[in-house]
Amino acid sequence: MTLTSINNHPLVNKLLTNRWPQFILQALLLAAFLFTILSGWIGTPVGSHNFGIVFLWITWWALLILVAVPFFGRGWCSICPIPLPGEWLQRGNLLGKKSEAGRSQVSKAIDGIGSSEAPSPQETIHRRWPRVFRNIWLQNGSFLLLGLFSPIILTSPQVTAVVLALMLVLAFATSIFFERRSFCRYLCPVSGFIGLYSQVSPLELRIRNKQDCVTCLGKPCYNGSTTGYGCPWGVFPAGLQKNTNCGLCLECVRVCPKNNISINLRSFATDLERPLTRMDEAYKSFIMLGSAMTYAAVLLGPWGALKLHSYAVFTPGWMVYAVAFLGLNLAILPGLMFSLMKLNPKGASPRASFTAFSTILIPLGLMFWLAFSLSFLASNVSYIGISLSDPLGWGWNLIGTAGLGWRPIGGFFIQPLQVLSLVGGLGWSTQLAIKMAKVQNVSPLPAIIFCLLTTLIMLWLIT
Ligand code: SF4
Ligand code: SF4
Ligand code: SF4
Repeated sequence: MTLTSINNHPLVNKLLTNRWPQFILQALLLAAFLFTILSGWIGTPVGSHNFGIVFLWITWWALLILVAVPFFGRGWCSICPIPLPGEWLQRGNLLGKKSEAGRSQVSKAIDGIGSSEAPSPQETIHRRWPRVFRNIWLQNGSFLLLGLFSPIILTSPQVTAVVLALMLVLAFATSIFFERRSFCRYLCPVSGFIGLYSQVSPLELRIRNKQDCVTCLGKPCYNGSTTGYGCPWGVFPAGLQKNTNCGLCLECVRVCPKNNISINLRSFATDLERPLTRMDEAYKSFIMLGSAMTYAAVLLGPWGALKLHSYAVFTPGWMVYAVAFLGLNLAILPGLMFSLMKLNPKGASPRASFTAFSTILIPLGLMFWLAFSLSFLASNVSYIGISLSDPLGWGWNLIGTAGLGWRPIGGFFIQPLQVLSLVGGLGWSTQLAIKMAKVQNVSPLPAIIFCLLTTLIMLWLIT
């Protein structure tokens, strides 16, 4: 594995350790986020002409799937505005760390300041997240909940506004009672998705030298220091082996007194060389796969009745849809993989194989989402120009593009690209399965059969 440290260059390092560029981006995004909520309440109820729907579910979503996650991993989390208000409250500060003299009683209490030592998490008034929930089961649940109502969320500006406002309030409330970014780490519905697929990214944040960490006094990257804060995600950078839980907030780069944090360029999917070991993460990979298939069927498929029932929330038809959606994600797909794992006559137990081989669903799932998003973007991209000119649907024409009609793009190219993505994903997963099977001393065939079956279904749904 070849690594290139991008923050070795003094100029890049200066840019990354300076808080202003990140702060400006976050502040702009927070303003856009609040405007998205506002546009849901005061703008047109026609989703395709409302800023909230067009910029969140068409522009942001496409950028996230097609660019941000595959290339920058958790890069979005480093500028995401949702945890900001809570974090500002916890810190009693918007930017950087204030000197002791200039700090209010509230922020001193919040940070547990009372000694000249860096605040340790035990000193703060914030509780640690309950041990029983220190996993991603709640995130899996919140993503499924969002998925269940997605057809209506994706099309109704009011519902989108309510969901976004709820996320903001929940993130804020969590930061009042619990330490650091507990919301991001354990609750955010998008977090599990980004965390899972960030393992594919060619960007990683790791320590340079383990020995430096062993001898480092106070471990400021975790506990904070007078120059900055301890890891908001509750991660000790010296223990990082995967991208999953590092929010790329860059705080440790700023705080480390030994310049021991490196942001590396590496080969794609390096993290996948270490198989998943936890059942919650394994389930996440099935949920993401099943959700991509469901969205493809509902939003791109020709089945009017399916579309109708998925929109008509709480009706008997929707209940059937909900049971089918949850059943596919929580029982059918994992059950199929588990049954196939049992076919392996030797090697690890079916449960251990199930967890390990769910790793191969990460590239497959990402390619499913890519194929789905390509089509979704191509058919809706023309709304971006319309919405830029008339974000609230009030008849404005700010930049002269309000009159553009709906026109899908990439007619000839989209479907071949989608097929290429799906076949590429299958090849990628197969290659990973073969590697993994060698290490586990089992046959890769059951896992490959699973990938083949699901890819054929997705191909059918998309084409
Ligand atoms: S985990 Fe969710 S709320 Fe937190 S930074 Fe990432 S996307 Fe934003
Ligand atoms: S502050 Fe730097 S040297 Fe110290 S433990 Fe953290 S990464 Fe290692
Ligand atoms: S490890 Fe560093 S960059 Fe990653 S979340 Fe923690 S402080 Fe931020």
